Amino acid sequence: MPTTQEIIGQDLAHLWHPFTQMKLWPGEPPLVIERGEGNWLIDSQGRRYLDGCSSLWVTVHGHNHPRINRAIAEQLALLDHSTLLGLTHPGAARLAAELARLVPVDLDKVFYSECGSTAVEIALKMAFQFWQQSGRPEKKRFLALEGAYHGDTLGAVSVGGMPLFHQVYGPLLFDVDRLPQPHCRLCGLGLSHPSCDLACAQALEPILRRHGAEVCALIVEPKVQGAAGMIVQPPGYLTRLAQICRRYDVLLIADEVATGFGRTGAMFACDLEGVCPDLMCLGKGLTGGVLPLAATLAGQRVYQAFLGEFEEFKTFFHGHTYTGNPLACAAALASLELFAETRLLEHVAVLSGLLARGLERIAQMEHVVEVRRQGLMVGIELAADKDSGLAYEPGLRMGHQVIMAARGRGVVIRPLGDTVVLMPPLASTPEEMEHLLMAVEASIAQVTEGRA
Ligand code: PMP
Repeated sequence: MPTTQEIIGQDLAHLWHPFTQMKLWPGEPPLVIERGEGNWLIDSQGRRYLDGCSSLWVTVHGHNHPRINRAIAEQLALLDHSTLLGLTHPGAARLAAELARLVPVDLDKVFYSECGSTAVEIALKMAFQFWQQSGRPEKKRFLALEGAYHGDTLGAVSVGGMPLFHQVYGPLLFDVDRLPQPHCRLCGLGLSHPSCDLACAQALEPILRRHGAEVCALIVEPKVQGAAGMIVQPPGYLTRLAQICRRYDVLLIADEVATGFGRTGAMFACDLEGVCPDLMCLGKGLTGGVLPLAATLAGQRVYQAFLGEFEEFKTFFHGHTYTGNPLACAAALASLELFAETRLLEHVAVLSGLLARGLERIAQMEHVVEVRRQGLMVGIELAADKDSGLAYEPGLRMGHQVIMAARGRGVVIRPLGDTVVLMPPLASTPEEMEHLLMAVEASIAQVTEGRA
């Protein structure tokens, strides 16, 4: 077993970390995570940390779950990998049937890939090609929200709306029309909810009235814009978008990569408003957060447009080497069984109540300007001045300071700028939730108020 110093040495010499200014890496000695046990991560020194970010929003039933491990081991003894190009295998077929049963009606065709970005990329290409093959080739434009995040591949970046991440690639991207961000506290339309009558969603109508004939699809993170800082949409927002899309025959793509699999309190965020999109992107929690697998689901209308004789070339010419990997499918099937057996959504409802109560305390703090929550997705926004909402100087990296302070209290979390994000595993216990809340409250007090 290499020593911690040897691992860090190899890391510093060769690893380029995601979303990381490598000039500042690691700053302090990085945690070397060696083991996972339930909802805890254990470092090379044997220290334990509650996984308060679900290892980047993926962990559902906890790490090293014996049931999921066994399913993977059993699958490994049978078949490690086989392609879905021209062949099939039991896990991919069974999982597709399960997903079709779980998601809102009408989405009964499942196309696999490996990550959320590719699930989005596939949805965009499917939407585009659908219209090309449906006698409406002029429908080429995409619509997305300000502050959207849909992944890091170029199509996903095109529909993304976070200048910090996306601006530099501008010349490489396709044009996208934007809807205002549904962020009530900072309403760009200067209105307040509910008297606004969802004007931010209604803004879609004039755009489609004028340009609907050229618009291919609207992509949206349903109910919560995650990477933008857990921006929770007002009730009815999603429904309104769906209604307007229908009226103007524009496809609705629901990017449920972050919100899917119980995270928002329902199995899918779309379920919260009974919305049935035309395409749905799934990833992250699909395998319980154990192996990389993603899926893009389509309904019959989209699917039928791709059927034809060989020489018509209506095929969806897309597919990744590891598409539908059997080990990942086995993990996903075991995870879905656990959802039912452990009645996980009921547990999430209990945890959501605990979180809501704990967060009331945190919302009162001197430098907490807003707490946003939907199910087990939480954003705690810090500001230099609570009343005016004046932000901290970015160089202070207050969010980063808070998460480093939380580490000292046995919690791993990640910020989005100065928004502290909490994303505990769905199977967290009430005691673990309390530990998370206490550690976060104390860390915010320490960093923003100088309290020990
Ligand atoms: N869509 C959404 C809504 C996401 O939050 C993310 C990742 N945070 C992605 C897509 C991209 O997923 P991945 O990182 O697995 O490519």
